[in-house]
Amino acid sequence: MDFNLTQEQQIIQKAAREFAKGEFTGVARELDINEAYPTEIVKKARELDLMGLFIPEEYGGPGLGYLEQAMVLEEFWKIDPGIGQQLSSVTFGAEELILFGTEEQKKKWLPPLFEGDAVMGFAITEPDAGSDTAAATTTAVREGDEYVINGSKVMIGNGTVGTFMLVYCLTSPEEERKTARHSILIVETDRNGYKAEPMHGKMGLRASDTSAVYFNNVRVPRENLLGAEGNGFIQLMKFFDHSRSYVAGHGVGLAQGALDMAIKHVKGRKQFGRPIGSFQVTQFKIAEMATKVETARAMVYKSAWLLDQGKPDTKLTAMAKLYACHVAVEVVDESLQLHGGYGYFNDYDIERFYRAAKVLEIYEGTKEVEKIVISREILGKL
Ligand SMILES: Cc1cc2nc3c(=O)[nH]c(=O)nc-3n(C[C@H](O)[C@H](O)[C@H](O)COP(=O)(O)OP(=O)(O)OC[C@H]3O[C@@H](n4cnc5c(N)ncnc54)[C@H](O)[C@@H]3O)c2cc1C
Repeated sequence: MDFNLTQEQQIIQKAAREFAKGEFTGVARELDINEAYPTEIVKKARELDLMGLFIPEEYGGPGLGYLEQAMVLEEFWKIDPGIGQQLSSVTFGAEELILFGTEEQKKKWLPPLFEGDAVMGFAITEPDAGSDTAAATTTAVREGDEYVINGSKVMIGNGTVGTFMLVYCLTSPEEERKTARHSILIVETDRNGYKAEPMHGKMGLRASDTSAVYFNNVRVPRENLLGAEGNGFIQLMKFFDHSRSYVAGHGVGLAQGALDMAIKHVKGRKQFGRPIGSFQVTQFKIAEMATKVETARAMVYKSAWLLDQGKPDTKLTAMAKLYACHVAVEVVDESLQLHGGYGYFNDYDIERFYRAAKVLEIYEGTKEVEKIVISREILGKL
C-alpha cells in the first residue's frame, strides 16, 4: 500500500493550486454576486489541461484519472466553490461517453471539449423526477432514422452555455421493468426546438450556469443514441459510480477552504485579551474539523483510485460522496461560527462558502439517496 502521490500528481496538484489562487481570488466574490459565468477562467483552464482530467489522450483529454480529477477539483473548490463547480461541469457527462459511447461518438464529441470551445452537460432531472430518475417522462420517439424528443428538464448545468447535452429520455414507456424504459441521447443545443432558460436566484455556486431546458420536437439522428436503447437507467447508475468520486472531491475542497479560513481567523482575532484560538474549545473545534477533512480526503482518494484501477466500488463511492459532502456542511458551519458576526457578511469568503455547501448534500444523489445505495450494497434486496 502506497499513500504517496506520484511526482506527476504533485505537479498537477501544485499547478491547480496556483491556478486557482492566481485566477479566482480577485474575481470570485464579484462573479458570485453578479451570477456571472467565468468565461476567461474556463478558457485558461482548458488551455492548461485542468479540466476533464480522466478523459483519455486519444480523445483529446489530459489522459489522467479520477484521482487527479478529484485532486484538481479539491484545489479549485478550496479557493472558490462557484468557479470550481463550473470547471467541474464543462465536461460533466464525458465519463458516460467514455463508458458507453462508440469509438465514433467518442472521437466526435470529446476532443472539441479541449481543442475547441465545446461545453457539455447531462440533463437528467425533471420537475417531477428528481431522486426517482426512473420516473423521467421526457420522451424520445423513433421516427425512421431519427429520435424526436419532447419534454423538459430542470436545474441543468450548462443548459444555456453548453454546446451539447446528454439527455436522459423515456424510450420504452410500455416496458414493464422501470429500469429498462430509458435511453441516453446526445443532443446539440443548436438543434431546432431546444430552449434553455437560466434559473436565477441560486443560494450558492452562482458563478455556474444552471438552467431549465425544454425540448419541443427536437430531432436527433439515431446515431446520437448512447449505447443500446433501454439501457439508460443502468448507464446512469454506472455514471454516478464515477462522477460521485470527484463531486465528493468538491466537498473535501470546500471543507479544507473553510478550515483554512477558520485557522487564519482564530489566530488573528482577539477577545478577552487573547487570540480566540488560544481557548481550548476553539482548539478542539479546529482539531475536529481537520480530522474530518483528512478522513473525507482519504475516502475520496481511495474511491477515485479504485476507479483508476478499473475497480469501481459503488458502496465506497457513495460513502465518500455522503461523508465528504456532510463534512463540508459541518466544517463550513463551524468555520462561520468561529468568524462570529463578521462571517455573516460577504466581505468574508466564508459567507459564500456557507451558501455553496448545502447543494453538496442535494445534487449527484441526495444524502438520503447515498444512504439508500450504501445500505442496499450492504444488505442486498430484502
Ligand atoms: C445547483 C444544482 C445543480 C444541478 N445540476 C444538475 C445537472 O447538471 N443535471 C441534472 O440532471 N440535475 C441537476 N441538478 C438536480 C439534482 O440532481 C436534484 O436536485 C437531485 O437529484 C434531487 O432531486 P429533487 O431536487 O427533485 O429532490 P427530490 O427527489 O424531490 O427529493 C426531496 C427530498 O426527498 C428525499 N427523498 C426522495 N426520495 C426518497 C426516498 N426514496 N427515501 C428517502 N428520501 C427520499 C430526498 O433525499 C430529498 O431530501 C442540480 C441541482 C442543483 C441544486
